[in-house]
Parts: sequence; structure tokens; C-alpha cells
Amino acid sequence: MKKGIAAVCLSLLLTALSSLGAGENLILVKDGNPGSTRIQMSYDPSAQEFQAAKELNHYIRKISGAHVPWQVQAPAFQRVLGKDPDFTEITLATLENGKYLLPEAVKEKLSKAESPQAFYIRTDGSRILIAGRSPIGVLYGAYTFIEKYLGVRWFHAGPEGEYCPAAGTLSVPAIDDFESPAIERRMIGAWRGSLTPWSVDDHNRWNRRNKMQYASPQPAGMSREALDLALCGDEKPTGGGHVTFEQAVPQKLFAEHPEYFPLQGGKRVCKARSQRCLGNPDVQKMVIDFGVSLAEYNTLFGVGFHDSTDGWCECAECRKLGTYNGVYKLNTAAHRFAAKMTSEILKRNPGAGGQRILIYSDFRDPLDDPSVRYDGRVKALYCSHQRCYVHPLDDQSGSCNRKYYRELLAWRKHCPNLGIYDYYAYASSPYAPMEYTLARDLKLYRKLGLKSFYDDCTNKDLPMPSSNWQFYYVLAKMSWNAELDVEQLMDEAYTLYYGKASAPMKQYHALRRELWESAPGHASYGGPCRIGYCLTVEGAEQRLLNFLAEAEKLAGNDGVLKKRIAMDRDFLTRFWIAEAAKIKKLMSGQKDIPVVRADSKITIDGELNEDVWRRAPLVAGFRTPDGSQPVEATRVKVAYDSGHWYFAIEAMTEHAWSPLKAEAKERDSAVYSDDSVEIFLMPPDGDYHHIAVNSLGTVYDAKIRDVAYESGAEVRTKVLKDRYVIEIKVPVAPMGRKIEDGQVWRMHFYRNCRNLQPPKVSEGSSPDGTPPHEQTRFRRAVIGRSAIRNGEFTRLRDVPPSQQKNLDGRQFPFGWNGVGARMITENGKNSVLVHNVIYSLMTVPREENGYVIRGEVTASGKGQMKITVSSCIRKPDDKRGFGHENRRVVLDAALKEEPAAYPFRFEFAPYENGYLYINAPDAKIDSVSASMTAK
Ligand SMILES: [Zn+2]
Ligand SMILES: [Zn+2]
Repeated sequence: MKKGIAAVCLSLLLTALSSLGAGENLILVKDGNPGSTRIQMSYDPSAQEFQAAKELNHYIRKISGAHVPWQVQAPAFQRVLGKDPDFTEITLATLENGKYLLPEAVKEKLSKAESPQAFYIRTDGSRILIAGRSPIGVLYGAYTFIEKYLGVRWFHAGPEGEYCPAAGTLSVPAIDDFESPAIERRMIGAWRGSLTPWSVDDHNRWNRRNKMQYASPQPAGMSREALDLALCGDEKPTGGGHVTFEQAVPQKLFAEHPEYFPLQGGKRVCKARSQRCLGNPDVQKMVIDFGVSLAEYNTLFGVGFHDSTDGWCECAECRKLGTYNGVYKLNTAAHRFAAKMTSEILKRNPGAGGQRILIYSDFRDPLDDPSVRYDGRVKALYCSHQRCYVHPLDDQSGSCNRKYYRELLAWRKHCPNLGIYDYYAYASSPYAPMEYTLARDLKLYRKLGLKSFYDDCTNKDLPMPSSNWQFYYVLAKMSWNAELDVEQLMDEAYTLYYGKASAPMKQYHALRRELWESAPGHASYGGPCRIGYCLTVEGAEQRLLNFLAEAEKLAGNDGVLKKRIAMDRDFLTRFWIAEAAKIKKLMSGQKDIPVVRADSKITIDGELNEDVWRRAPLVAGFRTPDGSQPVEATRVKVAYDSGHWYFAIEAMTEHAWSPLKAEAKERDSAVYSDDSVEIFLMPPDGDYHHIAVNSLGTVYDAKIRDVAYESGAEVRTKVLKDRYVIEIKVPVAPMGRKIEDGQVWRMHFYRNCRNLQPPKVSEGSSPDGTPPHEQTRFRRAVIGRSAIRNGEFTRLRDVPPSQQKNLDGRQFPFGWNGVGARMITENGKNSVLVHNVIYSLMTVPREENGYVIRGEVTASGKGQMKITVSSCIRKPDDKRGFGHENRRVVLDAALKEEPAAYPFRFEFAPYENGYLYINAPDAKIDSVSASMTAK
């Protein structure tokens, strides 16, 4: 049964192929009988050619049951004598050892190939030639033959990753297939932990079969054969990199030679991750010597700098190294140094090709000095920290990647041998279908002529190769042939991988992709976990689970297929469902940012003495990212008019241990590394804008991360004894916006405190403890006049003795009344406990247009909560008093134990206003908000 289906698949494949070529099919195996078919190698085959023969033998046997032996020399000898053997032969040869054997056309094509990995598969009489430019080319040719012409696939590592058809008869059409990689170096940098559930061996085998190169450590105690396989044609082992300085100019030299180490604040210092004095000739000599000695051991040398720096040198020589046209920049110093070191090493040892340099996050700004140019043999890798992996790099519709695309283009001028170093595995996106972004990126990289693609997959917390196997499969295929169509590639993959369950599984993955692509926000290195939002779409989780259940039914007793579907179910549960539950919990009860209309002028002078600032409620709930109370308080108030946002910020410094950190003096410099406050502003359906201000009033502004955005913000700061004050006015015209009633903006504030008592010097805090840039968790700010007074319960009134039996306690929120209610204060925040009812007269003006009211109650408790509006219509000439004439229930909800926001909406007719009642048997009301928009 199983065999039958697979045979059909293979014959379909062969039919499709034979229509491409001309002539008759060459029979390799007939009805399980290999006849006299042979695999022929040269007399002294390399490890790669030998591996090629073994793998051909293995897969022919696995598909057909036939054992096709390999052999060396004899028929080749016959062939040189001009005799054609009377059996089918798969001939493996390199350009070198096949020079008497290969037809002229094949030799010519291969000798012109730039890449040593190039190969040529061609039928020639009774022979199938698999010829490589070098031994690794032969091996890659053999794998291509097994894949393309015998129908095998290696979707991911491990036994479940392989698809192998079954067929008694194997034949191939006429073949004329020359291939060379689209991107010369293709690597997945993985560590043992990130490969779960597979071993390094499993992963390396998968890499080899998919013609990827290794960047994972070779296991200790490896065999000679494994070492040969690992080293030939692949990237050599790397020395240096982030530890160049530790190895070339070790810390122990500090005692005797402090001048090798960075001068900082007038002193030579040596900390764990100190850089070195780049201008010092001895340091330069030691780095060059180190590079030359590594080259002599055939090891690739990466001139690198420490990751996350403990400081660069400020000495006169280093300043000079980094100064171009009178301006000092770190990137100028770093790359002038590295370019010089690499060319000196190559001068002393021209064989030291293959050196690598990382264009790394804190010194990857494009260079001002056009004369800095790396030698063409130096592999330069642009590191894409913070680029967004949801949107392709050259996507011009959003702002997330513009900066990085611009930078990559600029670096081409300095690096003839440029590649990219991506961090998909660090974008908190396990089980996310990012292969579609990758496919477009790979086409771009090919177009730009990039020479390397390196994916840093070392994140041991996320099993990326297994949960995102589609990504690595597309990477392998399209880094050889960037013209492939990713949709077709994945469709074929799902057909073969899921077999008889492929119909529901294709729907499953299509829905997963739709949810991922339409989720809010971006995904980047260290960024928010975007997958958590995929399942916030109503009913999506159930639909996915239904597809899985259907697939499981169709899988029946097929053990391999059941395991494959179980893998999907496991990832869905672990990553999507669990993350969605976390997000739901975080968002439940999240409050709106209270904003007030500025109906009188606000002067930006750092004095918060305007009436608007007195009226505006505080943004409450600042927490550190781990949810605890911050050491220093931050007080934020927000106001707006139709053209501006206004912010009044008081950053308390009551626990300051040292002076405020205030180093950023230039616009768009690293303000956020100082004592500072960051503001995130996101218009309705738009990208967010990021403005950071330090105590000096220096501004950093960017749209997402693109500093080309100029906010036009007007800022004044004031440093007082116990706080610093920021008053800021941000026009919305540069965002192409106006602020209008009924809009919902999203907003966030992040306080950076840098002067606390050591060892914990720094602290970040924000509403809900939400990290910066995590746009999906920014709070809402609803524009519109408030239809409710004092909904945050900040203003209080004394309860007269006559009311004290209804309102248990001395004080109650101003504007509110009730029966069986009591106000409580927790962590400085007032809430109302309700056992019967509270109510408030709404503030909707009796006007001729009528209003739409949108509101929200944040509450927790037990039983039903019911909101009722009781109102009447009174035109100006109507002298009657208030009457409870219209009653309507606008919310009736079962309360949850956790605080949650319960939204409601209703409309008032012209000249209508009334009371809002909240009834509940056992509720804690944290806030009530309602905004009105004219109809
Ligand atoms: Zn120096
Ligand atoms: Zn994006």
C-alpha cells in the first residue's frame, strides 16, 4: 500500500522530468534488479567522492531494494582505451582526476565555474556523469542527483525529516544540469542546545545533504572521515572574532603594559570586556602576528572586538584613528583598524585568505571616510541586529527595515566581499513561518551580489531548526537557486511530508501563515514575542486544532506521519497557545492612558504650572520589567490639542547614588543610554514613533528605528534636587496626522535610571513593566472628551455622616455615589469595592447633535456585573427636572477573578444625558473610562 503510493509520486516526478529532456530513459534498476549498474570512482577517491558513492548506493537500495556496488579504476581504464562498457555507470569525477575521462564540454564548463562547489550532472551514452569542480562539488552533485532525479527529500534532520519514495524500477531521462551556488557561503551557526531534539551529527548530515556548509562545532573524537568531510569546501574553523583581543593581547599584560589597554577618563583600565588601545603600534603588531600564526594553522581569522563593550580607548592616537573631517566616530576607528590589520596579515601571508570581519551592531553605521576598503579576500558580514524579520529587508512600505537596507547598500562600497549575518533565531519567533520573508531576502542578497549568508542559530532557548524547519529548508534550496518559487517549494514539501494528511495540513499552515503575517508589530533581535498575538484572533486556535485533528485521523497507523503531526501539535501548544495565554493575562485589566484636551496654552518651559497639568490624571502603574515596584518613581501626564501631544514628565531621583548620567549631547545619539525617558507614540493603524530625552534635553527621535524621522519636538528640561522635569510638545504633522475625537492611539513610556547604588546601577520602568518597542503591549489612549467624571478615582470627597451607612468609610471618589460600596487604596491607587451599586451623572452636553459613548470598566470579582444607563432628553426650553425615562443595559458580564477590562458602547440622542449605574454583588472596580464623540 505504502509502496504503491510512493511509486506513483516518483513516476509523476519522472514524467515531469522526462518531458524536459529528449531521448530515452536510462535504466538504473529494473524490478529491483540492478543488472550490472555500477558506481564508478577514480583510483584514489577523496572523502567526498567516497561519501557520494556510499550515499548513492544507500538511496538506490532504500528506494528499490537493489544493491549497486561502487568500484574504482577498471572501467575508466577501458574507457581511456576507447571501449565502452556494456553496463550502466554512474561516474563520479572531479575536474582534476577526471581529466582523461570527462567529455570536453563538461571540463570546459567546470573549469570556467567560479565556485569550487559547482557540479555538472550529464547523461552520456550509458553513463551518468556527476562531475565536480572539486571533491565537494562531486558530493553536492550526488546529493542533487538523489534529490532531483531519484525523488528523495531531506526536509529536516532526524529520521522523520526524510522523504524517500519506493519503486522497483529506477530510470532517469536525459540530463544536462550544471549548478553553482547562488550564494557562495551558506551557513547555519548552531550549538548543541539549539538543535534539540537532534544531535550535532544529525544536523551536520542534514546540512551536507542539503548542500549547506557547517558552522557548528565538530564533535570531539570525530573520525578522520568526518573531519575530511567537514573541512573540504566548507568554512574553516574560526579563531578570533569577539575574543581576538583576549587571544592576541591578553588581560594578563595589563600589569606590565597598561598602555595596551583603553584610556578612559584619564586612566588606563582593564575590565572583562575592555577593548584595546587600537592606536598602539605594539597592539597592532600583536594582532597581526596572531592572525598570521592562525593562518599558518589553516584557521580562519576574524579580526573582532568584544561584544557589548566595557569601553573604547580615548587616547590621542585612537581619537586620530577615528577622526574624519574633524569628526570622531567609533565606526571610523574600528574599521580603519580592522581593514589595516587584515591587509597586513594578507601581505605577510597571502595564503591567509578567508579572514572574516563582522560589521557589528555598535560600529556598523556607514563610514564617512570613503577610502576605507577591505581586501577582497576578507569576508565582511553585516550583522542585522534589530532589523525586522516579518518584513523583507527592502520592504519600502514600513519603516522597520529602511535603516538596515540603507546601511547594507552603503557597506558594499567598502567591502567587495560582503555578506549578511542574520539573527532569525533571536527574534522570539519559534514556529513562525518566516521562510516567506527569507525567500524575498535571498533574492535580494543574490541581486546585490552578497557572497555569504550566515544565520546565527545559537539560541539554546528556542529549538529553531526543528520548530522552523521550513525556514532552513527554503534557505538551503534558495541559497543555491534564488529563482525558485517559495510557494511551489513549500507546496511540494507539504505534499510529500504529510502524504495522505497533506490536505488539512496545507490548510493548517496557510492559516498559521495568515495569522502570523496579519499579527500586529514586528519581530527583531531581542524583540517582543510576536507569535503570542497570532491566536488573539477569535476562533483561530480552534480552527488550527481542528485541522490537526483531521490530519491525525487521516494519518491512521502511519507512525512516521503521526510523529510529524505530533511535532506540529507540540510546537503549537508550547509556543503559540502558551504565549497567547501569557499575553491575554498581561493585557487583562490593562488601563488606558488618560489624556486630557489642552484647552488653554501650554508654554514649554519646564515649569508644570499650567492649569491643564493640574487637571490631567497621572499615568499609573510604572513597574520594572519583572513586575516589581521601581526604586525611583516616574510621574507622567498627557495632554493634546488637534495638532500636538504634550507630556509633563517628572523623573524622581530620590535614591540617586551618583550624578545623572547625561553623555548624549548630539541629536539622535544614544540618549536612551543616559538617565532618560523614552516616549512611544503610535497613531491609529500606523507605525510607532520613538522619542527619547535625557536631562540635558538632548533628543533622539526615530520612526521605529529609522532616525530619518524628525519629530519637530519642542523640549525643556529642568534638573531639581529630587527630580528632573521634562516638558515636551510633539507636533503630529510630521507623522502626517491630526488628533481627532474617537481615535485610539497607543502610547508607552520607558524610564531609564542609570544612577542607582551599585551593583544594580540601572533600572528600567514603564507602565505595566512593558519593555520598550513592544508595541503590541502599548496602552490605548482614547481621544475624546470624557463622558465620565473622575473615572480613575483620583479625586476624593469627604463622605457626610448621613451617607456613611451607604458608603462605608470617610472618603469616596468625587462625582460618585452608591449603596453598599467602599473605597480602598492599594499601592497608592484607589479602587471601589461594590456589593450593590455605584453611580455617577455623566457629563455629556445636551446638544443638538447627540453622542456616541465608548467606555470601559476595569474590574475583578465574582458574579455578574451589570451597567445600566438611565437618562432623559431635555431641550433648552424644557423646564422639567431630571427623569429616569430611558433605561438600557449596556453591559452584562460575568466577572473574572483577575482584573480585566470590560468595554461598552451606547448612543445618546440629541439633548440626552443621564446616570451610569454599575451593579455587582462582589466586585472591585479599578477604573471607569468613557469618551464621547459627536454623532
Ligand atoms: Zn588608544
Ligand atoms: Zn517589520
